[in-house]
Amino acid sequence: MTVVETRPEGVPSFERALPAARPGRRPADERINWKTSWPFFLVHLLPFLAFFTGVTTKAVVLCVVLYFGRMFFITAGYHRYFAHRSYRMGRVPQFLMAFGGSTAAQKGALWWAAHHRQHHRATDTELDVHSPLKGIFWSHVGWILCNKYKDTDLDGIRDFAQYPELMWLERKQWLGPWLLGVASYLIAGWSGLVIGFFLSTVLLWHGTFLVNSAAHLIGRRRYATQDTSRNSFIVALFTGGEGWHNNHHYYPASARQGFFWFEFDPTYYGLRALSLVGIVKDLRQPPARVRKAGRLKDGHFDVGMFRAHWSKATNTLGRFAMSATDVEAKKAALEASVQSALRAADELAKSSRPRRVVLPTE
Ligand SMILES: [Zn+2]
Ligand SMILES: [Zn+2]
Repeated sequence: MTVVETRPEGVPSFERALPAARPGRRPADERINWKTSWPFFLVHLLPFLAFFTGVTTKAVVLCVVLYFGRMFFITAGYHRYFAHRSYRMGRVPQFLMAFGGSTAAQKGALWWAAHHRQHHRATDTELDVHSPLKGIFWSHVGWILCNKYKDTDLDGIRDFAQYPELMWLERKQWLGPWLLGVASYLIAGWSGLVIGFFLSTVLLWHGTFLVNSAAHLIGRRRYATQDTSRNSFIVALFTGGEGWHNNHHYYPASARQGFFWFEFDPTYYGLRALSLVGIVKDLRQPPARVRKAGRLKDGHFDVGMFRAHWSKATNTLGRFAMSATDVEAKKAALEASVQSALRAADELAKSSRPRRVVLPTE
């Protein structure tokens, strides 16, 4: 079995280079392609047709079921299986998992997983497909709407690209959403289509995207990873347990992202249930010694946050240096750089600060 280990266990190494400064304006291939992106925006408007169709109880139930049901296919299938191979399953359930994920209208399993692997290989660097250092909008959705990442990187997912049925599904990725849309109409009428299908699809998009944006911005950092990943209960609540993102970046090969019983991870509970009936097997988990190691605590240097602040500072400086020659602008750029460095120092101080300070009695 090929194991996708993208980060060394335990204390991280410091060998990766800091991100280079970027020019202010985005390159053409990183800007929204409106010609290909208009359906994405249109789907956001379709739930408003509920003013005409009404909202039935059946449609609301369908919306909730389709949100959490499809979220499971994305988190357990696209993410924990196709991107990380954190457990095993047979060829038929593998295909069904990919098909279930395709109904979420987030492109094919191979496209999704190949780009996600790249995110782990190069988190928070120029090579990261949705680095939060390029802004919240970019990491949330901008990277999907531009031309740069529209193609499937088959080299990055060769282990699954060898299955002809998965390649077929990749080409027919429109099939899942269309079938589910028609089924929603047949189950609950126009309200079922508008609320049950389209509203849940829009919510599902943004729920999934939160893992790429909010999970690198909101929450706490338990492990000293080289990136900005964080653990957030709120994000976990909406994403079937994917909010424990700092855990995940620390040990990506685990089928379980809530490392402790109190970290809500319904995707893992679902996978456990599937393993009990033999549909999936060999669910990988971090050993107890790995869960205990690599903690950000007293005296640790948070290299992930330092890299992020440094990158912001150099980008600011780079932008000014390219667009202005007057001294005032350069002074302002330098000021921004210093402020970022101070924030990095403050972050370091926070992680180094003892929880209880005992003052000497004499
Ligand atoms: Zn991440
Ligand atoms: Zn991942």
